[in-house]
Amino acid sequence: MDFKDKKEDNTTENLVVSDLDQEKEDNRIQNFCYMCRRTEKQAGKLMRLSGDIYICQDCLQKTFDTMGSGNFKIFDMGTLDNGNFDFSNLFGNPKLNAKKVKEKKKEKKPKEEELTLKTLPAPHKIKASLDEYVIGQDHAKKVISVAVYNHYKRVITDSMDDIEIDKSNMLMIGPTGSGKTYLVKTLARLLNVPLAITDATALTEAGYIGDDVESVLSKLLAAADNDVEKAERGIVFIDEIDKIAKKKNTNSRDVSGESVQQAMLKLLEGSEVEVPVGASSKNAMVPTTTINTRNILFICGGAFPDLEEIIKKRLTKHSSIGFQADLKDKFDKDPNLLQKVTIEDLREFGMIPEFIGRLPVIYSLNALTEDMLVKILKEPKNAIIKQYQKLLALDEVELLFDETALEAIAKRAMEKNTGARALRSIIEEIMLDIMYEIPKDENIGRVTITEDYILNKGLPIIEMRGTNYYLPEK
Ligand code: ADP
Repeated sequence: MDFKDKKEDNTTENLVVSDLDQEKEDNRIQNFCYMCRRTEKQAGKLMRLSGDIYICQDCLQKTFDTMGSGNFKIFDMGTLDNGNFDFSNLFGNPKLNAKKVKEKKKEKKPKEEELTLKTLPAPHKIKASLDEYVIGQDHAKKVISVAVYNHYKRVITDSMDDIEIDKSNMLMIGPTGSGKTYLVKTLARLLNVPLAITDATALTEAGYIGDDVESVLSKLLAAADNDVEKAERGIVFIDEIDKIAKKKNTNSRDVSGESVQQAMLKLLEGSEVEVPVGASSKNAMVPTTTINTRNILFICGGAFPDLEEIIKKRLTKHSSIGFQADLKDKFDKDPNLLQKVTIEDLREFGMIPEFIGRLPVIYSLNALTEDMLVKILKEPKNAIIKQYQKLLALDEVELLFDETALEAIAKRAMEKNTGARALRSIIEEIMLDIMYEIPKDENIGRVTITEDYILNKGLPIIEMRGTNYYLPEK
């Protein structure tokens, strides 16, 4: 290599060096994307955020894509001007956003309507509302509507003491699963009053193992969010009240029977009671509060299993000898013998007179018939079948039940002898396969439950949008 060549070579070297320097220089003064580190030259227009941070459009778009449908406006990248972008436009003013969210939350919680003379529904309206949920039991619904109306009218006008009539506490007699609890629950919801449901079998005389009677008020207080005033207008439902009947032929102290009835007297008639807050029994560690039970509506319910025999015995006793057999036959066949109950019958059963005296409204619920069970399946506002139909409708599948299928379900429920309680478990069992199989195929448009399917003799009819076919054999 001669000198000239060397010189040229040097020149090239020099050139390369100066190019690199230039690029370094460029990088130094050029802004680069905070995320991908590319310069404006490489990544295109950058956006300046506060704190002198720059972001390229690609990274910004990627961020938005990841965020999905977040709380920002969709915007056009082309609208970016020289990198000075006002982010408050994009995401909105955070303070305003927070306010919007707050307002939404407020909207969600409807204002609780206090029961006033204006808002208290008349008995026929209470019954009409109950009709939407509770099938049959017309007499019970009527009695309960009138009693509740009178009770709350007195509570609202604060005339409980002026009127000589007793409180409208109730005794509800009816077989298992005939809707006792359901009726009370529906009522409390309609009236928007707190409700405590408790079981008399758990109660014992104070000082013995079990819950003191005051525990029912603790539950009510909890249901009223610890608002004493609200609790004092609530409803207490004590189920299985027949289990605290006086025990016959017992020599030991009857701590879970007659004594509980005695202990409950003061609650039922209205008195100031020390109630443990957040616990079922009083002790030194638990705070207590005072609740006045004067305005609390007590509803006791029970199946009273042998009461029918007592009623029958009374009804036949007075008839002349020759007709006794005939009458007994007639009463044996009467499914609603409980409607004929009297206070004497209840005393005979083992309820003490003072206790019955504090439950002036006594009525019975009928045993549910097969027809009523069919209606319960499909008619109430929140009927089980409607619930399943709604669930499948979300998958755009129509669910139908043949009338004969409903009858077969009702028949199966009748055999279990637990009233309407058996319905849910039977339906859940038969719907399991349907709910499992249907979402597998998006083309299914309609499912019809047949009697054969209920009787395990066939399959439900599955209709695709167009043709018919059956679920494949398991
Ligand atoms: P119980 O009389 O033993 O207290 P429930 O009230 O608990 O019976 O009834 C059990 C279920 O059966 C309720 O949750 C309700 O869904 C249904 N049910 C019972 N009776 C009726 C009725 N008359 N109308 C509508 N549903 C009912």
